[in-house]
Parts: sequence; structure tokens; C-alpha cells
Amino acid sequence: MKIQKYEIPDSGKTYKPAEPYLARVIENIRLTPEQSEDDVRNVILDLEGSGICYLEGQSVGVIPPGLQENGKPHRVRLYSIASSRTGDDGTSTTVTLCVKRVHFYNPETQSQVIGIASNYICDLKPGDRVPLIGPTGRTFFLPADDTTDLIMLAAGTGIAPFRAFINHIYKEKRTWNGKVRLFYGAKTGMESLYMNEKNSDIGQYMSLETFTAYRALSREDSPDGKRGFVQHRLAENKEEIWQMMNTGNFSLYICGMKGIELGAVEIFTQMAAAEGKDWAEIQKLFKEQGRWNIEVY
Ligand SMILES: Cc1cc2nc3c(=O)[nH]c(=O)nc-3n(C[C@H](O)[C@H](O)[C@H](O)COP(=O)(O)OP(=O)(O)OC[C@H]3O[C@@H](n4cnc5c(N)ncnc54)[C@H](O)[C@@H]3O)c2cc1C
Repeated sequence: MKIQKYEIPDSGKTYKPAEPYLARVIENIRLTPEQSEDDVRNVILDLEGSGICYLEGQSVGVIPPGLQENGKPHRVRLYSIASSRTGDDGTSTTVTLCVKRVHFYNPETQSQVIGIASNYICDLKPGDRVPLIGPTGRTFFLPADDTTDLIMLAAGTGIAPFRAFINHIYKEKRTWNGKVRLFYGAKTGMESLYMNEKNSDIGQYMSLETFTAYRALSREDSPDGKRGFVQHRLAENKEEIWQMMNTGNFSLYICGMKGIELGAVEIFTQMAAAEGKDWAEIQKLFKEQGRWNIEVY
């Protein structure tokens, strides 16, 4: 049976590239330590008067100013919304994004690649105006039934929609009693977005009975002395997760780099095979039911 999810309100306005909304920057704060090679920002934008209503799991598009080499405007880049529907300040007139500055050396072209939109956003100052489109996305939503178990897998900025989910269920809704399992990958503890000493927007819920976060640190030993990726933490807890997936009342979400999905599929394929089942068939059914939700980039 298809699970019922939250539905997009009819009343909200959607902006298109031809006529974007010029959102005002309220705040742009670095989430990663200064010495970290990764510059990840928490950016809050003012939507007051825009008529935009969004749901947790949606994205907005940003159009960087300027033109491409071919003279055409830059294309839209999407960013997952990291705040719940009422925004971080509860006014329903702001949206929060979690953006990583893209810059790397490309050995093929022997040149430094500076991501257009991410650098534009990471350099924004309070008061600046950002051409915004959306909100977009029609499926990556929470289930309407708050007894549903939630399984979330993310690394890096893939945490953004889960910050929105977790804020919604524990701060706004407050009646969620399904189990929530978050698997999250980062390089180090301080780079665990929203789960460190500097910002514990998600970390603050760790003591809740229904919520467990499993962190995989790839460049630092975690308190239990282990290093690894999301896939390793999932493998360690595969019996519980498989059990949740077999009770029928669950919804699973993967967000971030493509590799996380591949890692999870590998584990679920093994679990299914151990029971003489075909994961591809099971996954197809979960997809049809709206339980298998993927947003990788
Ligand atoms: C649905 C969706 C949600 C997204 N949510 C977020 C989010 O919450 N936060 C966020 O930071 N990004 C998110 N992204 C990615 C974002 O849309 C941009 O792709 C990213 O910021 C790079 O854009 P850019 O303009 O800076 O780089 P570009 O100028 O577009 O890219 C420069 C080059 O770098 C490559 N590249 C792009 N990203 C990376 C990377 N991470 N590592 C290595 N090479 C890369 C590109 O293929 C390209 O060749 C999301 C993407 C999608 C589709």
C-alpha cells in the first residue's frame, strides 16, 4: 500500500527562472571549523512577502548573477531546504540552506574548479539579494502517519533535509513516536554538521528515546574508536534496520552523494539474499509504496 505523505499546500506561490524572487540574506554563518578544508555555510534567507510556502524535503533553486561564457544566464542550482516549514525563527517567512563551497583541482584540465553558485552563496553578506526559484520537489516528504519509523542516510550537506525533518517532528509536531534512525557521515566530529559543539541543532535531540544518530567519521576516530563511512555504520546496525523495513511501517530517505545509495543497496542486497529474496524486487515495491526516497547529487 502506498504511504500517505504530507501534501504541498495549494496556497503557496512558486517562482520560475523567468521571474525569480529576490530573497534577502539574513545570515551567513560558517558551520565547519576555520581550519577545515571544507567551507560549509548555514544561510538564512528572508521570504517575507514572497508568498512561498514550503515543506520539509523540498529544495529551492538559486540563479547566480552574471552570464556563462556563451552569453546565456547561469543555470539554476538546487539546494535542499534545511529548515522546517515555519523556518528557524518560527515566522514561516524564512528559509535556511546548508551550502558547501565547491572548489577543487581538476587533473584532466589541470585547472582549479570554482563552483559558480556555491561560491556565490558562500560569499553572500546580510542584506544581499539572491534570485530564488521554487520551491521544487514533490516526493521527498515525511509520512503523514507519525507512528512511521524513519530511516535517514546522509553525508555532508545531505543532512539538510533531515535537519528540516527532525526539527519538524520534534520541535513543531512533537507527537512523533515512530523510531528515527539517522546515519550521518562527516570527515571529523567538528565537521558533523548540526551535531557538534558549535551547532547542535540536531545533536540536541540525541537524548530522545525514539531518536538515534549513528555517526561515521572518515578521518577521525569516533568515541567508540572506529573510523568509516555511512555504509559501515549501516552494516553494523543492519539487523535493526532490516527489521524496521520488514514491519512495513517505515520510510527511508537517502540524501547527498551518490555513493551512499550504492553502499546502502549493497547491504540491503545481502540482507535480502540471506533470506532467499531479490532486493531489486523489494526495492521496486518500496519505491511504488513511497518508502524508498532518494535525493542524490
Ligand atoms: C536536489 C538537489 C539538492 C541539492 N542540495 C544541495 C545542498 O543542500 N547543499 C549543497 O551544497 N549542494 C546541494 N546540491 C548541489 C548543488 O545544486 C550544486 O550542484 C553545487 O553547489 C555545485 O554548484 P556550483 O555552481 O558551485 O558548481 P558548478 O559550477 O556547477 O560545478 C563545477 C564543477 O564541479 C563539479 N561538482 C559539482 N559539485 C561537486 C562536488 N560536490 N564535488 C566535486 N565536484 C563537483 C560539477 O560537476 C562541475 O564540473 C543539490 C543538488 C540537487 C540536484
